[in-house]
Amino acid sequence: MKYYLGLDIGGTNIKTGVLSSSHRLVYKNSFPTRSAAGENAIMEDICAECAKVFGMYKIECIGVGCPGDKDDANVSIVAAGNLPFRDLPIVRLLKERFGVEVYLENDGSCALIADWLAGAGKGCTDMVEITVGTGIGGGCVVNGDLMRGVTNDAGELGHFVIDPRGEKCACGQKGCFEKYASATALIKQTRAAAQKNPRSVLAAESSSGVDGRTVFNAYAKGCPVAKRVLAKYAKYLATGINGLDYIFAPQYISLAGGIMNQGETVLKFLRPYLLHPQKVGVTTLHGDAGVIGAALLWKFKKYYLSLR
Ligand SMILES: [Zn+2]
Repeated sequence: MKYYLGLDIGGTNIKTGVLSSSHRLVYKNSFPTRSAAGENAIMEDICAECAKVFGMYKIECIGVGCPGDKDDANVSIVAAGNLPFRDLPIVRLLKERFGVEVYLENDGSCALIADWLAGAGKGCTDMVEITVGTGIGGGCVVNGDLMRGVTNDAGELGHFVIDPRGEKCACGQKGCFEKYASATALIKQTRAAAQKNPRSVLAAESSSGVDGRTVFNAYAKGCPVAKRVLAKYAKYLATGINGLDYIFAPQYISLAGGIMNQGETVLKFLRPYLLHPQKVGVTTLHGDAGVIGAALLWKFKKYYLSLR
């Protein structure tokens, strides 16, 4: 049996996992990202965790998934959203320290690879992964291969416009898909509805703070305001899903990200608006998709090594 180490670096937590060659996660761990302490401190934590894992398993190689921009050779993290990384040569640093090959990819592509090779998209020649989080990301498999684009970062699924007169997006456009269907957008919609309906269950649930789960908690308690928020949100999300369905005509569309832990509840709200409801599912790997995808990056090593 061979073992592969996957790292999923997020703004709040860093997850690690060891995947066996039979795609079984034999080890997993998670620790807080010390963003305020800076990139050196985060790298120290990562190296300490890797050293521990290398003491437990004979690791073939390391895969790293991270949000944000990579350099053209996929060896450095140029900038990463709310993480304090600036041109961090993470591939070289880990390679020098642990003496194995290291591969770097963005978190959306890692989720796609996990669902395609080890999840519900197994065997698909064409699939789309939509990761719904702070923003919306993901990726596509087209004709049995990862779609990369000439700039090597195709799959920014959050930035096609669904309302040209809509909200301004950080990317410079107006009305991007992620402005309406990300977890950030759902939280904003939840907050607005709670303020407008101060006596609702949703308002009571929101009183101690709003996150992606608040509206689902209120809905579970029978709140009609929460039901309206979810129906409206689902319509936005379905608009984007249908657009991608038309463009890529995939066999399967996988939805990932924290909100998708709600599983069937999300699908129930989405179905009435979907073009092909039977094609759309939530990831079966949930919180593990990031580490599994990172641990599977070696399968594309020819591609990554060709970039260097
Ligand atoms: Zn945008």
